[in-house]
Amino acid sequence: MDKNASPKSTVTGGLTTPQTDDGRRAREQIKSVGIIGAGQMGTGIAHVVSLSGYDVVMADLARDRFDAAMAATDKNMARQVAKGRITEADKATAMKRIGYVAKVDDLASCDLVIEAATENEAVKKKIFADFAPKLKKGALLASNTSSISITRLAACTDRPEAFIGMHFMNPVPVMELVELIRGIATDDVTFSLARGFVETLGKTIAVSEDFPAFIVNRILLPMINEAVYTLYEGVGTVEAIDKAMRLGANHPMGPLELADFIGLDTCLSVMQVLYEGLADSKYRPCPLLVKYVEAGWLGKKTKRGFYDYRGEKPVPTR
Ligand code: NAD
Repeated sequence: MDKNASPKSTVTGGLTTPQTDDGRRAREQIKSVGIIGAGQMGTGIAHVVSLSGYDVVMADLARDRFDAAMAATDKNMARQVAKGRITEADKATAMKRIGYVAKVDDLASCDLVIEAATENEAVKKKIFADFAPKLKKGALLASNTSSISITRLAACTDRPEAFIGMHFMNPVPVMELVELIRGIATDDVTFSLARGFVETLGKTIAVSEDFPAFIVNRILLPMINEAVYTLYEGVGTVEAIDKAMRLGANHPMGPLELADFIGLDTCLSVMQVLYEGLADSKYRPCPLLVKYVEAGWLGKKTKRGFYDYRGEKPVPTR
């Protein structure tokens, strides 16, 4: 078997039974998982991790982010119950496993801490530099960054060997893939444990080298940026561009709809990382994307982006 492949786990009522030594080791060594950032990704990660039997503690800048995360999790798990994927009891147990702390430092006793804060290198570096020395010895640190160098983030911590990129896809409860990215110092023990942990979530890994935006976003984000250029240059309307890619390329969502779903601030950040990190003008962010972000029209999360979500149905904003 490919040493980087993660075998499918057996799903039993929301819990997974590990099929490999890595998975069994992850079950033994990881009991509590801290999540920094209760935004859309932190929420999705908490959902999947708690349903997989781990205790979850979330930290964010304000309590209302956690309350929103719990409300969204309640709704999303109820949908899974309605579809017969989990039981009402699985949902109730998982919801009870999720807690909140006001300070990131209060995640110090977790066995694994996954950072899912805003996609901004300065923000993430500060979080890791402040928090890592307080985290208990032997615990793992992971970042869910979409694009930023794992080696650079790891270098801000006291344990670069126990630091890894663990890039979940959005929406986490639905998407099967998790990209694993080793920094230059990430050791084999950390990689195996991270691989085992992902297995116990019932997900599949793809391993990426530590280059800007890794694999999925290196390919996906330039396509989205090109769709914004297509709009900017007047080649098509928002509706025409999304319809063209849905029906003409069989994409489940149009690229502008997808950009709104990801968050336009995150899309712009990823393009900036690609542009600066690879020093190639083909990655320059479209000025129209910059303008939307400057306006605070960040997509679904702020109810306005390439579509306006404030009414019953999304309406294109151009
Ligand atoms: P988001 O804007 O929904 O949430 C970010 C959260 O981080 C916010 O709640 C914010 O208050 C919190 N935060 C910011 N600074 C913090 C700090 N110092 N301490 C604690 N919390 C802090 O963003 P998101 O879409 O959830 O993205 C989070 C991360 O996940 C980013 O690195 C992003 O690139 C990555 N990611 C996003 C997607 C996506 O589709 N949106 C997919 C995969 C990975």
